[in-house]
Amino acid sequence: MVEEQLIPRGIVDPATLAAMRKVPRHEFVEDAMRSKAYGDHPLPIGSGQTISQPYIVALMTQVLQLTGKERVLEIGTGSGYQAAVLSQVCDRVYTIERIDSLLVRARKIFDRLRYLNIISRIDDGTTGWADEAPFAGILVTAGGPEIPKPLVDQLSDPGRMVIPVGDQNMQELKLVQKQDGEISIRTIEYVRFVNLIGSYGWSG
Ligand code: SAH
Repeated sequence: MVEEQLIPRGIVDPATLAAMRKVPRHEFVEDAMRSKAYGDHPLPIGSGQTISQPYIVALMTQVLQLTGKERVLEIGTGSGYQAAVLSQVCDRVYTIERIDSLLVRARKIFDRLRYLNIISRIDDGTTGWADEAPFAGILVTAGGPEIPKPLVDQLSDPGRMVIPVGDQNMQELKLVQKQDGEISIRTIEYVRFVNLIGSYGWSG
């Protein structure tokens, strides 16, 4: 997976590559999907949701440019795989999921594999996690129509957020940077994510 899918497409950050090598992706997919776990595609995880393609997980991790000391917020825990990858490249991961059954399952995997620096809760993640803000990195793994304002507010300065924004079929993966009080936004990839549902997302 790392040699064939990630390095040729420009994943070069050593910490990201080490995390992608280390985290056992097959543990986060359903038993029936295990043989496909390391394939170059997303996979269904139940409740109509998906675990992202390995390249997208690596790309979103790399663009945050983490050093290992940061606190990072993830919106959309899903299988828990992206949070597990993040847990290897920062100090602490805060992850929010809106579907209870998915979070229950992800938490069991975090406990079993001893990912002890992942903190999770059930909520609408589009409003962020105000009590724990600010975050040096924010990673949104579902696509919405706009960049949620609370997430921009909860980004530290300097800070980086990666988020898919667009319609329900196709989104632009945006990198939002806060630096010296200024916000800059650029598109880094075209992607297709499941819907971000909530106050600052789609209505359902
Ligand atoms: N990061 C996940 C990807 C899961 S797909 C992984 O590695 O497997 C995106 C997830 O976002 C879904 O589980 C969906 O339920 C969740 N989601 C959608 N809108 C949300 C919201 N407003 N708050 C929290 N989670 C949300």
